[in-house]
Amino acid sequence: MPTSNPEARTRTSPVLLVHGGAGVIRRDMDADTERAVRDELADALRGGHALLAAGGSAIDAVAAAVVVLEDAPYFNAGRGAVFTHDGHHELDAAIMDGATLRAGAIAGVRHVRNPVLLARAVMERSPHVMLAGEGAEAFAREQGVARVDPEYFDTETRWRQLQEALRNGEKGERVDHFGTVGAVALDAQGRLAAATSTGGMTDKRWGRIGDSPVIGAGTYANMACAMSGTGWGEFYLRTAAAHAVCMRVAAMHQSVGEAAQAVINEKIPALGGSGGAIVLGADGVCAMPFNTDGMFRGRIGADGVPHVAIWADEGGPG
Ligand code: ASP
Repeated sequence: MPTSNPEARTRTSPVLLVHGGAGVIRRDMDADTERAVRDELADALRGGHALLAAGGSAIDAVAAAVVVLEDAPYFNAGRGAVFTHDGHHELDAAIMDGATLRAGAIAGVRHVRNPVLLARAVMERSPHVMLAGEGAEAFAREQGVARVDPEYFDTETRWRQLQEALRNGEKGERVDHFGTVGAVALDAQGRLAAATSTGGMTDKRWGRIGDSPVIGAGTYANMACAMSGTGWGEFYLRTAAAHAVCMRVAAMHQSVGEAAQAVINEKIPALGGSGGAIVLGADGVCAMPFNTDGMFRGRIGADGVPHVAIWADEGGPG
């Protein structure tokens, strides 16, 4: 683990991990979409890693990687976000700097093109950590953060998923489509950061806010560990999942693999939840556990080559 004295830090080889959500189902994915998704994940990795390789901070890298995924229509974040019960989009995002424990988050915004950039503005340019709804929109306007008409976020696929969820809701069944995006990075100075962005869960109601923007639930970073989660947010909230994983690493000296396994693949399923996470340690070791069919995920490190995977039987790249 790096010391808190920046002078004493040694140069570390940068690493960046991204995810585009757990809960992807094979029968939902045609070959063209799968190729496009893999390309977007690779672009996000390359873009973030280029910043890290040029000496950029972990915060810069996670923000840049998440913007690429928010702009792509394939993930449940930014363009391509899921629909609420009432047919709107309400977007949540968070970002956290593990070296300083500074954090920013926004919830329930409807017009912000890149929610992660607004979360970053909250962290860097407001005295607060989390802004929601109208207030967050007003702050975005004040800060000149790009805004769009809500229709910008619409996609055919998400509309169909809402109709399916509404039909299943009437029958008392539920279908999970976790497509949240996130990134965790380790920069050359040994600093860790995490960011997560989401449209939440299809068919959500009553201003529901999930785990993604809640610091310690879907997003957390400290000096030892950074995590971004994806899955059934209520369970990540109840287990304070990202904080639980990072504290296991920081205080109990567990490996990121052990810590992530205990929380994501044991504690959350034991309570009835599901999902996955990307977790990165200060030594560059990573874990990408999930307990769904697949999870869009990728890693880039010293070789500068993006390694991307979707299905459980692909192994890697964690
Ligand atoms: N964790 C997100 C939420 O509950 C959903 C997802 O991962 O796609 O809002």
